Amino acid sequence: MYDTSILKEQLASPKQVTVLMHARPDADALGTSLALALFLREQGHAVRVIAPTEYPTFLSWLPGVDTVIVAAHCTQDALLAQMQDIDLLFCVDFSAISRLDEWAYLLKQPDAFKIIIDHHIEPENFADLLLWDSQAAASSEVLFQIFEALEQKEKITPAIATCLYAGLVTDTNSFKNPNTRAVTHRIAADLIEYGVDPFNVQRLIYDNKSLNRLHFFSFAVSQRLVVLPSLHVAYFVIQKEDYKRYELKSGDTEGLVDYALSLKDISLAAVLKEKDDTVYLSLRSVGDLPANLIAKKYFNGGGHKNAAGGVSHLSLVETVDRFEKILQEFCL
Ligand code: 5GP
Ligand code: MN
Repeated sequence: MYDTSILKEQLASPKQVTVLMHARPDADALGTSLALALFLREQGHAVRVIAPTEYPTFLSWLPGVDTVIVAAHCTQDALLAQMQDIDLLFCVDFSAISRLDEWAYLLKQPDAFKIIIDHHIEPENFADLLLWDSQAAASSEVLFQIFEALEQKEKITPAIATCLYAGLVTDTNSFKNPNTRAVTHRIAADLIEYGVDPFNVQRLIYDNKSLNRLHFFSFAVSQRLVVLPSLHVAYFVIQKEDYKRYELKSGDTEGLVDYALSLKDISLAAVLKEKDDTVYLSLRSVGDLPANLIAKKYFNGGGHKNAAGGVSHLSLVETVDRFEKILQEFCL
């Protein structure tokens, strides 16, 4: 049970609140942030939600998403003006400052009380209050349990439940990943009772692709997949031109890595994506193979044992080369 006494105190009177998620937000970061914002607005607080970079287009149906301010679309002055006079700053689904990319300066709010809501390992100590559990399948699970500890579960509206459910479904890969615990299912069941339509949420997340996106997946599987059977590794290499060719929007490569992992006898799957001057890596593993260690040691990243990510500032070709060498250490 979380100790929410300090949070209760902080929320006792109406506050100016900013909810900040990590860059390239996924459904857990976005859903948990929106759920928190909807909940706090109901209690009379003034809430802004900031995403450093664009959120996935396929999540644009989430309740309240139209209120999200995308920092990459704003000038620094405009952003800092938005952050003036805030009392509370929530950091949602991240506890490493590097996950804000170049927007780390948004944390420099000496007068704001900072609260982390997260489930990533090794949190950095930059907040006044850490509501965190690395055993939790998703940040949405943590937030649900905070509502529980605050004895305010009854304030969960269908819109709030839907945002939380979206985070739970995606971070557990539809309850298939081993981070799914009995309590995860109990929370999912509660959320259904609070008004989520689980079938509709799953459809909106997974069966809502543009034809372009489906064509891209087909192209990637046939042209961009490398399989290394002796290492039990399969990975995609997505070039800058591929984004253009298939008119890919933010988040459109999400889910691709699972096709590599769906192959028989594969223990590590990856997507290496070239965007501007950076290569982004998405890693997934099975069993004890530590994807987060690979990301942390070699790609300035991190995550969870079976789902992690990082970046490389080498060229795409050099990154692929380096990645293959690194596999010798982890996958032989
Ligand atoms: P995805 O492959 O879906 O982008 O990311 C999978 C998981 O890896 C995320 O939930 C997050 O925990 C972690 N992750 C992704 N990118 C980064 C990164 O750049 N830095 C860190 N520390 N973790 C990351
Ligand atoms: Mn998460």
